[in-house]
Amino acid sequence: MANYDNLLANVPTDLWIGGQWKKASDGARFDVIDPATEGKIASVASASVEDARAALDAAQAAFGPWAVRKPRERAEILRRAYDLIMRDAERLAKLITIENGKALPDSRGEVAYAAEFFRWYAEEAVRNLGQNGMAPASGARIFVHHKPAGIAVLVTPWNFPAAMATRKIGPALAAGCPVILKPASETPLTMLALMPILEEAGVPAGVVNVLPSRRSGPVVDAMLHDPRVRIVSFTGSTEVGRKLLHGAADQVLKTAMELGGNAPFIVFDDADIDAAIDGAMIAKMRNMGEACTAANRFYVHEKVSDEFTKKLTAKMAGLKMGNGLDDGVALGPLVNKEGLDKVVELVDDAVSKGAKVLTGGKKPDGQGYFYPATVLSNVPDNAKMLNEEIFGPVASLQTFKDEKEVVTRANDTEYGLVAYLYTKDLSRGLRVSEKLDFGMIGLNRGLVSDPAAPFGGMKQSGVGREGAHEGLMEFLETQYISTTW
Ligand code: NAD
Repeated sequence: MANYDNLLANVPTDLWIGGQWKKASDGARFDVIDPATEGKIASVASASVEDARAALDAAQAAFGPWAVRKPRERAEILRRAYDLIMRDAERLAKLITIENGKALPDSRGEVAYAAEFFRWYAEEAVRNLGQNGMAPASGARIFVHHKPAGIAVLVTPWNFPAAMATRKIGPALAAGCPVILKPASETPLTMLALMPILEEAGVPAGVVNVLPSRRSGPVVDAMLHDPRVRIVSFTGSTEVGRKLLHGAADQVLKTAMELGGNAPFIVFDDADIDAAIDGAMIAKMRNMGEACTAANRFYVHEKVSDEFTKKLTAKMAGLKMGNGLDDGVALGPLVNKEGLDKVVELVDDAVSKGAKVLTGGKKPDGQGYFYPATVLSNVPDNAKMLNEEIFGPVASLQTFKDEKEVVTRANDTEYGLVAYLYTKDLSRGLRVSEKLDFGMIGLNRGLVSDPAAPFGGMKQSGVGREGAHEGLMEFLETQYISTTW
């Protein structure tokens, strides 16, 4: 813990309710662990159902005044939040690395991405536009406008402790909605550290509340059943998303669900192979593979398979693994033991069924949840990793012969978040993109995430979109006024 003392000294560890730091009603706390050392870095208050009610009281009190603030005022607060996050970017990046494990360059990228949601929604806050028209038969006037939908419950995962939360807080605040955020228990510190920054930016007390909790199920469920709540926006696994959809049904809440993925990465024989390798390294290794957008299944045309495989293996083997805070490290530890055990299990399963290990494939001894960058070729169709999220630094390679076949194989999953494809033939690129049942396509690009674009999935990858104008609409209700004069 010694190395981090300075960094952690001022990080809050209690609940942020109504603009004040509070202990849990029953005093409960839980430990946050550094995945690089397996040592404890903090003890954080664990919210109870009673604390959730207090947060709802605060959010309810803040809602009216926040909803009637002029859009420009809300926009300027959001814009200030962007500036202040960028001012504190290095401190926040280090904090992300300490609690999540990801290498510092990844964390810096995340902070910039997270801050962008405040800048983008500062610009969107003043573009909540309606419509008007005339009813064709009656001649009545139709005025359509959008009202803030109400209190939003936000639940976020550990893999992007900053960005998955700001992607929800930004549009909610732009729309005029107060929020109660339940961050992941592995990584609560980043959002707690953001609260003084939002306060400094001018976010009024009660508009953003943060409730870390080891009792996520009952705490979130109590909020979903409180009549003051109108929205639940979740990012996490499909399994938990399904539970929240059931919970949201009782009060017919507006739901936004960003769930799991199983991204195919298709390399056609006419692709620029070096560009495909660069894209593959981002799509696979951003966040050490712990991303819903991570390339999970590589399909490489048999004519270019040798070249692609050799080059990818060389790049993966060259990545330096270690504590994410250390210079030159590109690959930090996975977030926890369960995540590591899952990767070990998936690799062992594929190898036992005939996959060939080209690099990595073996968990190192010693402390920390480390797993090396791994490339597996000849992965058989019945390997579990082709159907489940690997969520680790493992590239699974298969070959294909023709376009129709690879589209069928790529679509053969319950998920539909993102697909990547590389080809120099633009008409093939667009034709194949249209046939892929995924909410986002990286066409000759290994990164699709952008605050200005609608992020989200089809099928069991989710409901709704985040980012872009669509992200704002998730926090607004449409009202239509019929009138004549
Ligand atoms: P998770 O579903 O286990 O947890 C997500 C959040 O839900 C955490 O805050 C957790 O504490 C909370 N939670 C868990 N059980 C709950 C319950 N019963 N009721 C209420 N809340 C509960 O997911 P994770 O392991 O933190 O994150 C990894 C998953 O997130 C992966 O499946 C990944 O694909 C997905 N993800 C999706 C996106 C996207 O935008 N589609 C982005 C990032 C991560």
